[in-house]
Amino acid sequence: MFVHKDIIIVFLFIFVFTFLIIFLFLSDLKKIMKDLQSFSGKPIKSSKFFFYNLFEPLIFNINSIISEQQSKFKSERLRVYFYDYFFKNFPDPLLIIDELSNIIELNEASINLLGKDSKGKNILSALRIPELGDLINHSVQKKKPVESEVHLIYPKEKVFKIWISGRRHVGKNQLNFLRLYDSTSENNVQNLQRDFIANASHELKTPITSISGYCETLIKDKSNDKNIKKKFLKTMMNEATRMSTLVNDLLSLTRIERLEHTPPNQSINLVEVLNEVSNICSERNFRNGSKYKFKIPKKNILIVGDKSELKQVFLNIIENAIIHSNSSRPVEIKLSNSNSAVVFSVKDYGVGISNQNIPLLTKRFFRVDPSRSRGSGNTGLGLSIVKHTLNRHNAELNIISTVNKGSEFSIIFNKGSPSLLG
Ligand code: ADP
Repeated sequence: MFVHKDIIIVFLFIFVFTFLIIFLFLSDLKKIMKDLQSFSGKPIKSSKFFFYNLFEPLIFNINSIISEQQSKFKSERLRVYFYDYFFKNFPDPLLIIDELSNIIELNEASINLLGKDSKGKNILSALRIPELGDLINHSVQKKKPVESEVHLIYPKEKVFKIWISGRRHVGKNQLNFLRLYDSTSENNVQNLQRDFIANASHELKTPITSISGYCETLIKDKSNDKNIKKKFLKTMMNEATRMSTLVNDLLSLTRIERLEHTPPNQSINLVEVLNEVSNICSERNFRNGSKYKFKIPKKNILIVGDKSELKQVFLNIIENAIIHSNSSRPVEIKLSNSNSAVVFSVKDYGVGISNQNIPLLTKRFFRVDPSRSRGSGNTGLGLSIVKHTLNRHNAELNIISTVNKGSEFSIIFNKGSPSLLG
């Protein structure tokens, strides 16, 4: 059979062309399949396809699905991230409870407070807060958050500020979210402030009552006895001095507490400071006539410090030793300089202090023997001022004492500490 040559060429051309079209079509399909299989989350680029116009609607739909899935994925990842990093590691206890008040989720801080096995337990038995049940009910009924300050009795005695979200429907569950904030230290500070005000008022009230009592007696007195009047006025004068000392000590304490975290920046010579303290002591007429002796090195000892504050500290400790010394042996006051530290020490052979009272000495208004201390016009604030001043100077207070044998108070300026020059 004879076939014209041109026809063969046309057929061949059609065949090659069709083959090419099918090949390109399949290769476009293969690219789409490949992009979908190696799902990277990135949209598919339609420009790389041969049949761009043909595939564009399909690629557009695929890209919209990808972007929708991508945003869902992102928010899911954010949720997981939030749970892992914020919920789990949040510094305050966080708990999620169901409608029966069973704990279904809790963070690390809650586990530390309630123990590892608390998940699944009823919150009312895990957390012994008497009013907790009522607070949860209140938040459920009002359908809004409830806040309150509560006292935890078990497993630890603490004060918490509690926040309860109010019940929310999550799927089939009704969940309530609790946040606890430990306010124990804030509470303690408030109690300390309350005690401080009560103590300061009490200390001031005593001399005021005494002065007004004497004033009343003097007003009513018709005897005109000059001796009695003089005696009364002297007592009133003493009481007024006591009040003034107390107010001055309170002002010193407030000032030093404010400055406690601001280190001093003057360079001072401790030898000079102690020589000045020694002069003040010889000018002062100590009431019980106690003897004391100073041992001060000749060579300068330079430190970074506040001269007037340290002078006050040295005087407080020396005065205490003299007041509480009932021995013929003199109080020994010494300043020494070694390789590692400069030490100021005061040793007396007096009444001494029992071991259980030593840690309390620097508490405001603490006195081992209140009548003895008040009798000598002291305020009970001296060692508290000493403590705060030494904190500011990065120095330590060391107390060694034996009842009826005496005490040794030492201040150690460590040479390694930044406060010391050399
Ligand atoms: P005060 O103003 O009463 O002296 P301080 O804070 O200076 O207050 O001292 C607190 C208490 O520490 C004193 O009341 C006293 O009971 C006790 N104390 C301080 N130094 C000595 C000491 N050297 N010997 C015995 N007791 C001391």
